[in-house]
Amino acid sequence: MKVTEHLAQSPKTVFSFEILPPLKGQSINQLFSAIEPLMEFKPAFIDVTYHREEYVYTQQPNGFLERKTTRKRPGTVGICAAIMNRYGIDAVPHLICGGFSIEETENALIDLDFLGIDNVLVLRGDAIKSEGKFVPEANGHHFASELLEQVAQMNKGKYLDQELQKTAPTSFCIGVAGYPEKHFESPNLDKDLEYLKLKVDLGAEYIVTQMFFDNNKYFEFVRKCRAMGIQVPIIPGLKPITAKNQLTVLPSIFHIDLPHDLVKALDKCKNNEEVMQVGIEWGIQQSKELMEFGVPCLHYYSMSRSVAVQNIAKALF
Ligand code: FAD
Repeated sequence: MKVTEHLAQSPKTVFSFEILPPLKGQSINQLFSAIEPLMEFKPAFIDVTYHREEYVYTQQPNGFLERKTTRKRPGTVGICAAIMNRYGIDAVPHLICGGFSIEETENALIDLDFLGIDNVLVLRGDAIKSEGKFVPEANGHHFASELLEQVAQMNKGKYLDQELQKTAPTSFCIGVAGYPEKHFESPNLDKDLEYLKLKVDLGAEYIVTQMFFDNNKYFEFVRKCRAMGIQVPIIPGLKPITAKNQLTVLPSIFHIDLPHDLVKALDKCKNNEEVMQVGIEWGIQQSKELMEFGVPCLHYYSMSRSVAVQNIAKALF
């Protein structure tokens, strides 16, 4: 079922979360043990992130450069299929521009369609560490809006090879990312919103936000989106803080601010158990206020760890 159908059919705020594929070589059972404690809250859908492999070039004694893969989380498509099989819940694969040519994207979409996956979250993807800035594949997409256009074309039965006759149209519900505190490369929020509007005009049916810790940022973001004619559901993405180093790690990776009251409470914590407690309480308060505002869904970045999300969900769903 499509994410938008889940949202439209539920009279209440629905629960969903995001997981990461395990690192290469690790078992999927670890992931199942992170998912299972969250099943009692009846998630409407589960997002599965997509990760490009990271690599570095090292110089060999003969002077040649050798490309060495340093980290990999394969398995997004397989995990989506496994989740749908095992739990009967819709899985939403993330699909990125980075690392894919348009032909590879088309083939990936054909796989997802054949597996009965109804949704895709369409993203540009980040730069890999060794490149510093985002570099598309040769014959790949530069922006999420271009990838989205390709999915939208396939939804009309238009494949890359225009000579194909009697093609089967896909029927993906397309989600995109939005940034209440703006995307870090954008000169300002208004410019970023112009591109978000472009994604919606090209066929995005819902938006999932980057994590935020101050609901006022979300409320203002929604107000601005509505004022410029973006009418699709805007799903807030929430991340419970679980470790003290996240005070600096989250702002540096995700380009978001932590409110001072939260920082003060975290500063007082003597260990990560206390930090997790503060994170859970903050998450519950944030979620309650968002529910009162009438959000269609609360989407949690679980990072494939269930304890904090489970405690928040217990208080709300
Ligand atoms: P875009 O919408 O393409 O925007 C990228 C930047 O370019 C923005 O600054 C925008 O303002 C600008 N821009 C957009 N269109 C144009 C245009 N036509 N011309 C000029 N400038 C333009 N990353 C992963 O690698 N894997 C994941 O699974 C993943 N999941 C995510 C899930 C969510 C909910 C979110 C919020 C992010 C996720 N990311 C993921 C991170 C995401 O890939 C990065 O934030 C990336 O830097 C931007 O992706 P985007 O889809 O927002 O890009």
